[in-house]
Amino acid sequence: VARVVRYAEGAIGVLRGDTVHDISGLVDERWRGTPYAMTELIRNWNRVADRANEIAGGDGGVGAARAGLLAPLPSPPHIFAAPLNYRDHVDEMVGSRHAPTALKAGQSPAELGFFLKAPGSICGPGDAIELPPLPGRAFHHEIELGAVIGKPAQGVAAQDALGHVFGYLCVLDITMRTDGGYQEERVLRKSFQTFTPLGACIVTADEIDDVASLGLRLWVGDELRQNANTRDLIVGVDRLISDASNVLTLSPGDLYMTGTPDGVGPIVAGDRIRAEIDQVGSMELDVVQRTW
Ligand code: MN
Repeated sequence: VARVVRYAEGAIGVLRGDTVHDISGLVDERWRGTPYAMTELIRNWNRVADRANEIAGGDGGVGAARAGLLAPLPSPPHIFAAPLNYRDHVDEMVGSRHAPTALKAGQSPAELGFFLKAPGSICGPGDAIELPPLPGRAFHHEIELGAVIGKPAQGVAAQDALGHVFGYLCVLDITMRTDGGYQEERVLRKSFQTFTPLGACIVTADEIDDVASLGLRLWVGDELRQNANTRDLIVGVDRLISDASNVLTLSPGDLYMTGTPDGVGPIVAGDRIRAEIDQVGSMELDVVQRTW
């Protein structure tokens, strides 16, 4: 029962109220402070959860605002992502000038399965989204619920799939959208460095009442752009995980991004994005022009 964060120089903590309590010592020494510490915590969570909660209930800790929060999951073995998983988003993409030629109404992850994003595109809640200098392209925000795998999942049935989830987090799937003559692969369009902001925390699955009933909202400045609920997912989190686990074995620390609802739109340097998911968490990031 916890909200887990990474902070400072790679410490791991439990967020209780506005205070971060250091639980780095629960991870084997050889992984401590490395990008793999969170994966190891997740792998061993059942063994250390009680101790983590004890520490979080104690004195001390550091204020979350001063802690220097980092991406809570910096090195997932895989980032799976669902295409076209909310009906209203399918409708807004079909017939838009950004639509891939093969896109048809009625498609969903049930037919399409998943795609992958590069883990190197991950950034944290304190970072900025950096837009590369590519004229003629648009860059869109997509808010998504992310599920983090806790136990290996191989060929699991949908009704057992949520038992393999460690927790959930708020994710942005920043996407370069093309039109006309540009034909870049989806993997490239979504894998620019900083195009996968995560955070601010991972909330363990037992803190979520019903993963199929969570509101998601995203603002650009004061403008509410996306406002939806996971009850409108075409393919639910359970079936997404089940289907993927019938392709390959999912590992602790794998991330599944469940798809974005309608309301996607352009972001430009100078924008500030706020994203929040009920019971899961929120983050705010600046959009800047990349300088390299
Ligand atoms: Mn997406």
